[in-house]
Amino acid sequence: MGSVKDYFSSLGYGIASLLKGMQVTGKEFITPKITEKYPENRENPPVAPRFRAILELKYDSEGRHKCIACGICERQCPNGTIKLTTKMVDTPDGKKKRKLDNYMYDLGSCTFCQLCVTNCPQDALEFNNDFEQAVFTRDKLVKKLNYLPEKEEPAPTPEELARMQAEREAKIAAAKAAAAAKKAAAAKATQDTPAKDTPQENAGNPSPDK
Ligand code: SF4
Ligand code: SF4
Repeated sequence: MGSVKDYFSSLGYGIASLLKGMQVTGKEFITPKITEKYPENRENPPVAPRFRAILELKYDSEGRHKCIACGICERQCPNGTIKLTTKMVDTPDGKKKRKLDNYMYDLGSCTFCQLCVTNCPQDALEFNNDFEQAVFTRDKLVKKLNYLPEKEEPAPTPEELARMQAEREAKIAAAKAAAAAKKAAAAKATQDTPAKDTPQENAGNPSPDK
């Protein structure tokens, strides 16, 4: 008797489960369908604006990026996806400055964690949502992000050059004055220190112990 009861109990449970599944199926059956006609809708693809497809440098309207080649993004990347090379250039005020030479990004190893973007002190990076990045060979996934020709910094005006020169001379003069003051202080300290007795002076004065 017990086995018959178990049989009908299992049967009822199975039918209830089937109806529940059919309910979900039926609901999806009458839900309006959305068919993306890709690639016909390529001009206006339904991609979320924040979708992370590929990293890029932000360029302003004059074609300049804000990267200062500090290397933070390269160090923060957990996958070694970013490789920077830099160069030293002379600035108009006579100093040396590090500049970006090559910003290489390997899309094939990027996990889109965005650590590079969030840690950039210059807000120089962003993700583009252009999802069509398929290529036939992996080496084509390595991209140079500073692809635009480097634009020269605007040349300083004569007034700015004069100001830079004056600042540099003032710094040199201040450094010389500080060095001279330090030297004079050291010389004075030497003069003020009492001279120690020399061995010759002590030669005729036997020790009290003797
Ligand atoms: S992109 Fe940003 S973090 Fe990376 S080197 Fe340039 S300034 Fe530094
Ligand atoms: S998103 Fe993450 S993995 Fe990709 S380059 Fe940036 S730090 Fe590296």
